[in-house]
Amino acid sequence: MKLSGNRLLDYADLNALIRYYMMTMSEIDYRAMVISLKKEKNAVILAHNYQLPEVQDVADVIGDSLALSRSAAMSDADTIIFCGVHFMAETASIICPDKLVLIPDPDAGCSLASTINPRELKSWIAEHPDAVVVSYVNTSAEVKALSDYCCTSSNAVRIVNSIPSNREILFLPDMFLGSYVAKMTKRKNIFVWPGECHVHAGINAQDINDMLKKFNSADFLVHPECGCTSTTLYHISTGELQKSAHILSTEGMMKHALSSDAKQFVVATETGILYRMKKENPHKQFIPIKRDAICKYMKLVNLEKIRNSLVNSVFRVKVPPRTAAKARAAIERMLAIS
Ligand code: SF4
Repeated sequence: MKLSGNRLLDYADLNALIRYYMMTMSEIDYRAMVISLKKEKNAVILAHNYQLPEVQDVADVIGDSLALSRSAAMSDADTIIFCGVHFMAETASIICPDKLVLIPDPDAGCSLASTINPRELKSWIAEHPDAVVVSYVNTSAEVKALSDYCCTSSNAVRIVNSIPSNREILFLPDMFLGSYVAKMTKRKNIFVWPGECHVHAGINAQDINDMLKKFNSADFLVHPECGCTSTTLYHISTGELQKSAHILSTEGMMKHALSSDAKQFVVATETGILYRMKKENPHKQFIPIKRDAICKYMKLVNLEKIRNSLVNSVFRVKVPPRTAAKARAAIERMLAIS
């Protein structure tokens, strides 16, 4: 802590120093407890790229939702602490039905996933009984269970192209990704659900163009896995952007940051990923497209809550077997095409 000028410590400064010291100590304590408990309980900690730095620092694996679930399936841990949002923990439960899947904060939802519920999807299907349903991975397990295919932003075009051209398609829940897919596949028979992610709905073409003018030698990275970047993908497809972007998965983005000669990168996604980028590339500069592109749900998880999960085995995420089997089929159909 710095004091301005040469003034002496006063009572308020001392209090602030003590509070700062205690806060730092408690963070260290929680970190030590989490590391020791995870060994004791044979648990694995999976953290999404958008998690807080303190959470990423104790994680065994950091990545996007589907990659994390696949890591969970390969792990021999009994317990999975899923540091992300609820639909991601559900996906881990669908892929790993025999493991105990815990989410440290049960209120960690997703504004995009919550734009459609099973009742709404059923009535949409009733209007288009012969349509093929393609759901983005950012959906609840029940919505996945009503779907023919699951998809991510990096494989959505491929999945839709694999469906016979005479079949109608219901694409949900992200309207920007859906519009992008319709444009890329040139299909007229694709119906798109009007959902959006509150974080990326806030990133518009003007913001992106302003940043590209300001940092014109920077590489521009777009993360394709989360619905979070679909707004940007849409703006690229409409030609509103003045410069082409590198559309990369998380790992592709990390590899690109490592191998590129560029010294600056403008990153169009939730700002949490910048922590990992900076950590792995300390001599390069990573600039968020918008400083306030922050997912409040992702930031609900912290060390104290992870410790609570490990001690009390809360909060369990378990998808009922019948729902899980149907949702798994939609995910497996996607994996067979990807
Ligand atoms: S950033 Fe958007 S899509 Fe990603 S978890 Fe948060 S609300 Fe959902």
